[in-house]
Amino acid sequence: MVIGILGAGQLARMLALAGKPLGLKFIFLDPTPIACAADIGKHLIGEYTDKTLLTQLAEESDVITYEFENVPVEIIDFLNRSTPVYPPGRALLIGQDRITEKTFLQDLGIATAPFAAVSSLDELQLAMVEIGYPAILKTRRFGYDGKGQVVLKNAQDLAEAWQAVNNASCVVEGFVPFDREISIIASRNIAGETVYYPLSENEHHKGILRLAKNTRNDPLQGQAENYITAILNALDYVGTIALELFAVGDQLIANEFAPRVHNSGHWTIEGSETCQFENHLRAIMGMPLGSTHSLGYAAMQNFIGNVPKSKTLLSLEQVHLHLYDKAARKGRKLAHATVRTDSLETFTDLINSLTELAIQSDDS
Ligand code: AMP
Repeated sequence: MVIGILGAGQLARMLALAGKPLGLKFIFLDPTPIACAADIGKHLIGEYTDKTLLTQLAEESDVITYEFENVPVEIIDFLNRSTPVYPPGRALLIGQDRITEKTFLQDLGIATAPFAAVSSLDELQLAMVEIGYPAILKTRRFGYDGKGQVVLKNAQDLAEAWQAVNNASCVVEGFVPFDREISIIASRNIAGETVYYPLSENEHHKGILRLAKNTRNDPLQGQAENYITAILNALDYVGTIALELFAVGDQLIANEFAPRVHNSGHWTIEGSETCQFENHLRAIMGMPLGSTHSLGYAAMQNFIGNVPKSKTLLSLEQVHLHLYDKAARKGRKLAHATVRTDSLETFTDLINSLTELAIQSDDS
């Protein structure tokens, strides 16, 4: 079976690496001439809007998926005419605009931060009367890893913040005083069978995920599963999905969902019976899903901008290194390491070592 993927970055690469043992072949469409998934399959180099290449991708694939959420939905519709594309385009359409996304979540009974759509400084000033400080101003579209976001501490911040977002259509939302940031990842196949991973506890720095750890019997697991089930059912979703959440006491507040495999689930590669990438592939092929059982304590440390020496990382027993084969650039995710162990003490020590190494090499 041939899997087509829009994008040939690290997520596509990890999908392909998970799919090889299942005998799958991969074809990627990505405009970057040197893309990091390219050597694991066939690479069509060109724009995502190139109809000739899209037609070739559809003709050569049995099923198509994507690794990033800014894919124009018209492209999904075009491909879908001849070849099934999962996850469904509606998931993309809703998730691409923070206002439709939050409205969709609220309509499903999922709590979000208070929010308002603003498209001028006047509207922002008016909205802040309701929302209150502190708050965050975010562009409605094309924001990721904290890009296009400004924290508003008081009324003096508004004019400068509005300039910083460049007059873009925005959402302003109340700052959630969270105790923890967590995410839940689930996979749902064509028959509607669904599996859930244990909650991931996530630490961000400057809006970018740095560390993600699995949890065991987290008291909020059930609530998170109810939230994500509502989303999966409403979208008749197929594939792996991630929902990012804030935990405030025993309450969960949704931030956003990503209709794809997710950085906070990279620990599942060595830390789960079946990783998020394999389950995504199984789901879109209409295959039974694999167990999401955690194999002990598991975590993932991202390396951004620079990667510590492989020799240093590989000298740590129970640490696994995943290099993305990307050129080093400031602020770029270049690699991650996963930890998997049965001992909590070893787990804590290894996370501390990895965090220290990551901080030393971090260029942001
Ligand atoms: P986002 O791009 O929405 O995923 O935001 C990136 C990061 O900014 C999140 O992981 C949080 O650490 C922080 N953040 C975003 N929105 C809020 C909020 N409403 N309250 C508190 N922190 C937030």
